[in-house]
Amino acid sequence: MPCCGVLCQYETNKLVRIQSVRLGSLKWSLNAAILLFICIMLLWNRKYQEFDLVVSSVTTKVKGVAQTHLPGVGDVVWDVVDYSGPLQSKNSFFVVTNVIVTKNQKQGKCPEVPLKGRMCHTDEDCEKGGWDQKSHGIKTGSCVRYDVLKKTCEVSAWCPVETKTNPPRPALLAAAENFTVLIKNNIRFPAFNYIQRNILPQMNDAYLRSCHRGNDSLCPIFKLGDVVREAGEKFSVMAIEGGVIGILINWDCNLDRLMHRCRPKYTFRRLDEKESNKTLYPGLNFRYAKYNMVNGVEERTLYKAFGIRFDVMVFGQAGKFSFIQLIIYIGSTLSYYALTTMMIDWLIGTSCYSAEVGQNYFEKKVESVQDKQKCILCVSYVDENNIRLVKKSQKKSLQDSKPISVQPHKEDSGHLRAVLCLLQPAESDAQPPLDHKPDRRPRRPAWCKCGHCTPSSLPQEELCCRQSDGACITSSPLFEQLVLRRSLLEAVLLYRDPLSPPADRHQTSALRHCAYSQYISWRIGVPPEDTHPAIPSCCVWRVREEYPSPDGQYSGFRPVRMASMQACANGEL
Ligand code: ZN
Ligand code: ZN
Repeated sequence: MPCCGVLCQYETNKLVRIQSVRLGSLKWSLNAAILLFICIMLLWNRKYQEFDLVVSSVTTKVKGVAQTHLPGVGDVVWDVVDYSGPLQSKNSFFVVTNVIVTKNQKQGKCPEVPLKGRMCHTDEDCEKGGWDQKSHGIKTGSCVRYDVLKKTCEVSAWCPVETKTNPPRPALLAAAENFTVLIKNNIRFPAFNYIQRNILPQMNDAYLRSCHRGNDSLCPIFKLGDVVREAGEKFSVMAIEGGVIGILINWDCNLDRLMHRCRPKYTFRRLDEKESNKTLYPGLNFRYAKYNMVNGVEERTLYKAFGIRFDVMVFGQAGKFSFIQLIIYIGSTLSYYALTTMMIDWLIGTSCYSAEVGQNYFEKKVESVQDKQKCILCVSYVDENNIRLVKKSQKKSLQDSKPISVQPHKEDSGHLRAVLCLLQPAESDAQPPLDHKPDRRPRRPAWCKCGHCTPSSLPQEELCCRQSDGACITSSPLFEQLVLRRSLLEAVLLYRDPLSPPADRHQTSALRHCAYSQYISWRIGVPPEDTHPAIPSCCVWRVREEYPSPDGQYSGFRPVRMASMQACANGEL
């Protein structure tokens, strides 16, 4: 493969497919449920549209007249000028529903209202020039008679001062219930350059004169009584002390050609809290006065007006199809499908499903990779069927190290076949028995079980051919035939490299290494991936005895990362 760096590579995930009808149908049911949910959300919330917020202007016109009897004044007709009050602010209108009138006030001196704590007995009780929040004027410093029983401080004020504090019950202008208001609302969605008003083109004069909320929810003319009732209040009660009512106009527009719709929706709500206001400053009221000149003296009529303020609030949005929004929505929903995987993985992981399937699945799904630092050695004992994987230790001898896993022997069938073929003709030149050789090795170390191993300074070389006491593998006739026999080793070397000169084939180091690889192929077979086969000390020394190094120096066991037995055979043993 030509190596051109990360640019010429693509990595993809490896998947594990579980053949299961139950899991397969569960997966597709979950995916279908997710798809259904996504489609419902798409249509319900119009996720395929881009939206713009409303910009609006509101004007109102109140109409109606009422006649009322004001105590001390007489019968008065109220028209829109009288009851709208001077209070005019943006997007709201005010209607007076109750009033306290104090007529013919003039600048002068008069006794203050006899409220609690305001009484006096002598002039000393009245501090000259003093006033407080509830005063109608500034104290003159004298205590005067208010009526037959009470004396109060005299004040400089508009006299006579306003005496009533509680609004009249029932409300004087309860008839305001039948007043009507026309609301004109122009809206605009700047992003779509779309303009609309709440008085639709088909609404003509005749329609506007006859329409009311009962027969058409789009009628822009409202009876104040209806508005207050729909807000959940009683007009006659609210009229006494006043309050604030919100008129909410909601525009939820769909500007797509096929489903075009842009109509206002009116709702009503009381905005001030009537419950918490029961004791302290309830309702809504303010004072205003009308001034006139009587015989060259300025007089005024003071009105304390209670009423209902109506605030018109407009909100809403318009949506229009946008391909980009659709793509973004679809993209954002793709992650939901991961829920299926998570859920099924969880199901398999718990014992709810099947412990056997779970174990199998995780074995297939999770692949353990050893860190580069760790060196796993592969060990085979003659008195054990399986081969052991042991972590290389710097201190503990290999013989005493605990295995990290035990695996079945994997036969190197190619090797077996080749060896059997090579053995046939070699039967004639059988070597003389070798047991006459003197044992020149030092005494047997503690970890040796076969009695033929040699002490070593390296822990990874401290390995015997056996787990328990018994005969050494080197004493087996097969060891002679498969590992040591010169004719076999030469044939193997020629087999590997058919054109190698005989001189190379007869070199003892080449024969020695070939003997090691013969032993590995025989006893370990194909070592598991990323492991290094280790040869017992007795076998290593038996091979070295047979094919000694001329200078008596051996490189010793150095595990190197080997990909195949071929590389292993060329290793530095
Ligand atoms: Zn031994
Ligand atoms: Zn041995």
